[in-house]
Amino acid sequence: MQNTSESKHNPVQLIIEKLKEELTKAQDTYIDSKELLSESTIISPDDGDTSSQLEQRALAEAAMKRASIKTRRITKALARAKDGTITECVDCEGEIPTKRILFTMSTRCIHCQEIVDAQQRHFA
Ligand SMILES: [Zn+2]
Repeated sequence: MQNTSESKHNPVQLIIEKLKEELTKAQDTYIDSKELLSESTIISPDDGDTSSQLEQRALAEAAMKRASIKTRRITKALARAKDGTITECVDCEGEIPTKRILFTMSTRCIHCQEIVDAQQRHFA
């Protein structure tokens, strides 16, 4: 019993649970979009409504791409969570707030991210 309540308050455990949830969602989106794409290829070109079909295909393709990027990011984050390094900033080894990881899956603390963003703006 003691262990259950402890793991509930363990932020890394919370992150892992949340990431797994997000992973399932991303995988579902990927599968749904893929199905939509394969269905829309069956429609004959004489249908007359090709522009909205093309639009739908483009949307489904974009959703698939986003879902696959998200899946990769979450899988990486999960590996880091299991290593116990997910709350460590890759630049300064400072602690990344768990809320920040959940929302952005960032690998840097806010301070280091600001530096990176400023550099990117500078070189853009
Ligand atoms: Zn940092």
